[in-house]
Amino acid sequence: MQKRKLRIAVGQISSESNHFVSFHCELDFFRNTGYLLEGDDLFKLRGAGNEVAGILNCLDAAGGVEIIPLLAARANSSGTLSEECYSYLKNHLLAQLAGAGAVDSVILSHHGSMTAVGEDDPEGDIASAVRQVIGPHTPLIMTLDCHGNITRRMVKSTNAILGYEHYPHDDVFTTGERGCRLLLKAARGEVRPVIGHAKVPMLLTGFNASTYWNSPFAQMMDQAKCLERCPGILSASIFMVGSYIDIPDLGCSSLVVTDGDVDRALEEAGILAERYWMLRHEFQVETLSVQEAVKRGREIPGGPILLLDTADTTGGGAAGDGIGLVKGLLETGVTETCLAMVVDPDAAQACARAGVGSTLCLRLGHGVDPRWGRPLEVAGRVTRISDGRFTYTGGILGGASATMGTSAVFEVNGIRLLVSTYPTYDWADEQYRSVGLAPEAAKFVGVKNMMNFRIAYRDIMKGFFVLNVPGPTPPDMRMLQFQRVNRPLFPLDSDFDEPGIILTDSESQQN
Ligand SMILES: [Zn+2]
Repeated sequence: MQKRKLRIAVGQISSESNHFVSFHCELDFFRNTGYLLEGDDLFKLRGAGNEVAGILNCLDAAGGVEIIPLLAARANSSGTLSEECYSYLKNHLLAQLAGAGAVDSVILSHHGSMTAVGEDDPEGDIASAVRQVIGPHTPLIMTLDCHGNITRRMVKSTNAILGYEHYPHDDVFTTGERGCRLLLKAARGEVRPVIGHAKVPMLLTGFNASTYWNSPFAQMMDQAKCLERCPGILSASIFMVGSYIDIPDLGCSSLVVTDGDVDRALEEAGILAERYWMLRHEFQVETLSVQEAVKRGREIPGGPILLLDTADTTGGGAAGDGIGLVKGLLETGVTETCLAMVVDPDAAQACARAGVGSTLCLRLGHGVDPRWGRPLEVAGRVTRISDGRFTYTGGILGGASATMGTSAVFEVNGIRLLVSTYPTYDWADEQYRSVGLAPEAAKFVGVKNMMNFRIAYRDIMKGFFVLNVPGPTPPDMRMLQFQRVNRPLFPLDSDFDEPGIILTDSESQQN
């Protein structure tokens, strides 16, 4: 007798939100900076480098599976999703599931730190709604970015949650595969995954959290991955919440999935959480003014020296329209070649209209998100116009094309400023290179990124400094005015000795 095929539903709604910007994320932002694929269109992700591609790859290789495509949506980080945007994505994913008939299991890929107007915990909301459709006994597994904020509702609604293992995130495909392998085992009845989760009251900056050097986060990840080698442990994840979302239930997490042993899952998650708390001070970062960074950079022979405007990281939801670095460079009177970038649709259009070789005076910066500074009025010369198209060389969008929209290189003294229409995720130096700017030929390079630069510039940079310019993704969480987070929360509160770790599991009703 021929075996019945397993029916496995696959869905994704993934974006990281930022409550400290003055705009919302709309559906078009998904279409323009990532993708929005419904039903069978989800299969277009076969061969891509993301989680869904990893899931499809695993299911295709397994054979004997009927894949039920729900919806796959990914956007760069942005503001909170508008009500309309979120309800569209959620309702369309659920409609596909409801229309699919009985399924044997479901896998969802999310970020974990997305928010929507009126919903602090969209991933938990979606998981809980999916659970309503599939009933209590059908396995539901979720994969997340390791910057995801884990909520009680996520834990209660799923059978397993797995996070990325690498930061920078070059393991999104394999995370999809890992989640899918566990899902297949659960769907075949070979394992019964249960979750133990421990939440630590810490909000950390991602700067000291690379897993590629001996950072405190790398140490935590190593410990978790060692645990995975023990019998009965199906998965162990560490979540470093450096998210710029202002919701009550915010904090870092450890999460362990065991084969049916919830007490052990809780115990192991608790042990990881205690270590996490011990390491909290090691995540803090030294920041400098632009002037001080330039002074120290000049003491280092050659270049490039990276000036990290991490407060304007588009990968964390910022508008990319901060001009503080350029202001600082001009005030410092730099004469060396410098590269910098700013999102300013009006200025990009003005440059395009004026044409290459034109000299003009522009008001630059803080046009998209005026909350974080005032525009800079400055004269300069247009040296290049571009349609802004480029292709990512790696990361979560590796191989994908993207566009900055109409863009220009505007030269002010020695500063070559890339002025673009749209913000784009910053993986490496693709944006600069697409308009003919070579970082290796500059003394100072402005980078709006707190992590990926370590890969992008690894072979050429002579040094880097973190700047203390204002913005919605600062290197120190104390620079933001959080209103709704539960307190005390490190480092917003001066040190407190007892972290009050909160344990939750996927089985019991009480916690
Ligand atoms: Zn992340």
